[in-house]
Amino acid sequence: MKNIITGAGFTGIVIANILAENGDDVTIIEKRNHIGGNSYDYTDEETGIHVHKYGAHIFHTNSDKVWNYLKKFSEWSDYSHRVNAVINGEGVNIPFNLNSIKKCFPPELAEKYTKKLLETYGKDAKVPILELSKTEDIDLKNLADFIYKKVFEGYTVKQWGLKPEQIDMSVTARVPVFVSYDNSYFQDKYQGIPKNGYTKMFENMLKHKNIKVILNKTFNEFSKENDIEGARIIYTGSIDEFFDYKYGVLPYRSLSFETEVQNKEYYQDVAVTNYPSDNDYTRIVEHKRFLAEKSDKTVITKEYSHQFELNKNDRYYPIKNEENERIYNKYLQDAKNTENLYFKGRLGSYKYYNMDQAVLEAIDFAENIIK
Ligand code: UDP
Repeated sequence: MKNIITGAGFTGIVIANILAENGDDVTIIEKRNHIGGNSYDYTDEETGIHVHKYGAHIFHTNSDKVWNYLKKFSEWSDYSHRVNAVINGEGVNIPFNLNSIKKCFPPELAEKYTKKLLETYGKDAKVPILELSKTEDIDLKNLADFIYKKVFEGYTVKQWGLKPEQIDMSVTARVPVFVSYDNSYFQDKYQGIPKNGYTKMFENMLKHKNIKVILNKTFNEFSKENDIEGARIIYTGSIDEFFDYKYGVLPYRSLSFETEVQNKEYYQDVAVTNYPSDNDYTRIVEHKRFLAEKSDKTVITKEYSHQFELNKNDRYYPIKNEENERIYNKYLQDAKNTENLYFKGRLGSYKYYNMDQAVLEAIDFAENIIK
């Protein structure tokens, strides 16, 4: 069967690969001038450092299925992600954990908070900030107020234009308070970065005689120029765009980036520094840390968050709330009434997927249709 996949990000590429391996013909259309979606990376000419063009992408998963699948296309560096937030001028570990407490409070108070957290939630517990804030214990409440103010409030207002309690709880719960001395950002069974970059891995996935990649083309342009009758259409762009916005425009948050070479070996202590209180940008990424690349210079990216505006900037984060869900479901119903039409991926599903969730959805979908 002929397959037309729109979007050459993680989702589109995984589906293309599995269908092609099964003997199906796949055309994958991408409106940008490169593959990889927002996981795309490139080598900076001046320094030789791999740069994550659309923000830091650190792969992490607990799924053997996802990990074993991706390992076929790349070796992986065993990078363990570290993030600091600047609190009162100092870098403090995020997720906010027992080391962060030590750094932010005088020894006696730190000890009291640590003891109470361990007694109340247990070692290695992950407590979302909005849950910790509900505590009736006066000490834990003081701690929760501090973390809310210094880590979550300002950052979330910059990132979402809303306060933590105004967005879906699952969003801030991605970065819970961690009752542990483990400083890693993720605790998944597998984490890392493709050794030669994401883009190289994607090239390997698309290297198949049954796959044709067309860049610089939208689905609309392609469908006007080609006969798509009878083809299976897999669309990984935003579902409202496919249906010409007939039920309204789905809201998203967008990002912009300022990337610069700095004339020093390292710019900051860890790969990502969050700025909950200071500056207009939300965070700074230092790219050489991901693959432990050597250079006497360093490449950094400042990341800014904006409202998504149609035809002005790109979609990054779906905004989960009841109203948006309702609009999405109207579109989805139309899709279900159309034969051989599927919507997948972060944009197609309108879900705040991590890369591994997108890959798992894509593998399951592709395996299911070739059955
Ligand atoms: N967050 C925050 N302060 C931080 C880190 C995260 O307030 O220092 C909140 C913020 O609302 C953010 C959410 O937690 O959007 C999820 O953070 P994550 O690092 O998972 O975001 P991503 O890397 O996907 O942009």
